[in-house]
Amino acid sequence: MSTSITRVTERTIVAVDLEDDGSIEIRTGGSSGYRETLTAEQARQLAAGLLELADESEKYFAETAAAAIAVTVHAAPIGTADVTACCGVLPWHLPSIDRITSTDSEVTCTWAATARAECA
Ligand SMILES: [Zn+2]
Repeated sequence: MSTSITRVTERTIVAVDLEDDGSIEIRTGGSSGYRETLTAEQARQLAAGLLELADESEKYFAETAAAAIAVTVHAAPIGTADVTACCGVLPWHLPSIDRITSTDSEVTCTWAATARAECA
């Protein structure tokens, strides 16, 4: 993954797109029209890498890009429940950038795990 981060940051990132399948596409301004589609976990690593590698002049965009790609995916309410299955929040109370899925493997919300760890 570190190789990918270096490759991306050596170019100018022109867009970060969230795809319907939960993957993230990074488009850069290279002459070849570079594209890379990332899984949510790869995107989290990339977001961390961008912030780490960006110099001062790039900080603002790095932070914006990191926020855009480090989107939390929540588990959809189960059955007649009103709240998300992962963190027990009403969907319309979630940050507007967050996503909801009914596919367990796509869930990246770690609120429940974090809360459990803090209570332990
Ligand atoms: Zn959640």
